[in-house]
Amino acid sequence: MFIGVGATKAKKASLSGENAANVYEAMEYLTAIQKKNFKTKYDRKFDFKDLNVVVIGGGDTAMDCLRTAKREGAKSVTCLYRRDEYNMPGSKKEYKNAMEEGVDFTFLAAPKEIILNDNGKAIAVEIVKTTLGLKDASGRQKMEEIKGSETRVKADVVIMSLGFDPAVPSFLAENGIETNSWGGIIINETTHETTTAGIYAGGDCFRGADLVVTAALDGREAARSISKALLK
Ligand SMILES: Cc1cc2nc3c(=O)[nH]c(=O)nc-3n(C[C@H](O)[C@H](O)[C@H](O)COP(=O)(O)OP(=O)(O)OC[C@H]3O[C@@H](n4cnc5c(N)ncnc54)[C@H](O)[C@@H]3O)c2cc1C
Repeated sequence: MFIGVGATKAKKASLSGENAANVYEAMEYLTAIQKKNFKTKYDRKFDFKDLNVVVIGGGDTAMDCLRTAKREGAKSVTCLYRRDEYNMPGSKKEYKNAMEEGVDFTFLAAPKEIILNDNGKAIAVEIVKTTLGLKDASGRQKMEEIKGSETRVKADVVIMSLGFDPAVPSFLAENGIETNSWGGIIINETTHETTTAGIYAGGDCFRGADLVVTAALDGREAARSISKALLK
């Protein structure tokens, strides 16, 4: 058996104001517009025409949200990313395409709070400017906030796109399949076998949110191991 259940649990920023009704998770928005494009029933609250849309995050999912909002007729679409252009995880091609479509990018901007009006509706995102210093043990440049650089970005709608963690279905533990501290399935990286013999895993549920090519590679390598085990 091979498990490839992906990583589907949206990460949270734990910002004050992020539970406001006009603050959405990326997949809620993308799923609604997908339904609209397929001419099936969708929630009209996701019609962002003529609105100022702010997307927090800089991965591939953020790029999809930015470009979708632009095509859906938003008045302005702004990406807030806390590191710089070079460190942004999303594909460079999609970044370029988003720029061509008119998306604004604000780099080195860490969100601090979602500002709400008296009715509890999000009206802006407070950001603090950041600077990148020396690389840490993981090889990533350390990010520091610049004190006193707080400013606000106007928003009629905020989309949170901060990445995904594995959802960890209960059948894993029930079958002795161990996961690590962030919910990734533990495998033997040579054979792709999990901690339960005869059960293999790969893709985002092992790596964390990653790429189609790495998931395909895991599937191929696991298939080779399964084949070998069956021929023994
Ligand atoms: C919006 C978005 C944009 C992306 N853009 C890119 C991109 O441009 N380029 C790129 O390379 N990657 C991109 N990715 C990442 C890419 O989609 C994933 O890395 C890849 O799909 C992972 O493959 P997977 O097979 O591990 O998991 P998935 O493709 O996530 O497949 C998991 C499957 O398991 C099913 N499942 C989940 N839980 C259970 C359960 N309990 N029981 C049964 N079935 C279950 C799900 O329904 C799903 O069908 C993007 C991801 C998102 C969300």
